[in-house]
Amino acid sequence: MENGVVTADQSSSSSAVIFMGTGCSSAVPNAMCLIQPSDPPCSVCSQSLLIPPDQNPNYRGNTSLLIDYCQNVGEHSYILIDIGKTFREAVLRWFTFHKIPRVDSIILTHEHADAILGLDDIRAVQPFSPTNDISPTPIYLTQDSMNSVAVKFPYLVQKKLKEGQEIRRVSQLDWNIIETDHEKPFFASGLQFAPLPVMHGEDYVSLGFLFGQKCEVAYISDVSRFIPSTEALISKSGGGQLDLLILDTLYKNGSHNTHFCFPQTLDAVKRICPKRALLIGMTHEFDHHSDNAYLAEWSEREGIQVQLAHDGLRIPIDL
Ligand SMILES: [Zn+2]
Ligand SMILES: [Zn+2]
Repeated sequence: MENGVVTADQSSSSSAVIFMGTGCSSAVPNAMCLIQPSDPPCSVCSQSLLIPPDQNPNYRGNTSLLIDYCQNVGEHSYILIDIGKTFREAVLRWFTFHKIPRVDSIILTHEHADAILGLDDIRAVQPFSPTNDISPTPIYLTQDSMNSVAVKFPYLVQKKLKEGQEIRRVSQLDWNIIETDHEKPFFASGLQFAPLPVMHGEDYVSLGFLFGQKCEVAYISDVSRFIPSTEALISKSGGGQLDLLILDTLYKNGSHNTHFCFPQTLDAVKRICPKRALLIGMTHEFDHHSDNAYLAEWSEREGIQVQLAHDGLRIPIDL
């Protein structure tokens, strides 16, 4: 990830996490910065007009992580956390680049648009069958998320056709309800996940996930406040030191009612004290190069390696 330019690492014998998207819900570039440019123009968003996305770490889709889980040598399972508005773009950009042939299971953190609106496009990575006669992709979500998805995508939830209804090809999904409780883990494609409930605004619980038996990873994409049991579980002083923490950060300064911003994110990283942290969910306020230079100094000072992630970044990790 030198200078944020992605190089393909095809060492296929180990597991890895691959960032499908590292941006906020409206994604980066911010459309308004391009259609009604300020004077001077936004430098982060302007780069998208000059640099191809795969060479531009300031081009960010909705937060999403692909886990390439290699349980046995040569056997890979592909587990996708969240499938937002930019899923199709992530497939075209990163599935091709990292040679990802399919999605074996899907896990949802919550039911906001930037986490689920790509569900219709799952059929693009499923075998073609005009009669929908294929194995459905397992998907794991809370009952609250299920209720919301059923309203937004009734045709993906409907089990049987109504009388007189024509068959139309749609994504085939096998819905599995998970609990909002770290003591109720579940398995997706053979890998165990512990749900990490966090507040995403004071009226809303989103999930992060803790996974990995050999190396431990916590992924938390949408958080404004940690509940104490979740923080204790993933803290060095509580459940043991994480190998990798992937954590939300929205704006550079101040605070926000539904997300951590940079000051709260860095405070949380210090309290949790993982071996390494990568930040996601950034708006166009973050410039990959200059903010990672700042974070390199911060990391040196605090003794915790922290950087902004970028789309397409692949981190080999023994799970
Ligand atoms: Zn901008
Ligand atoms: Zn959200």
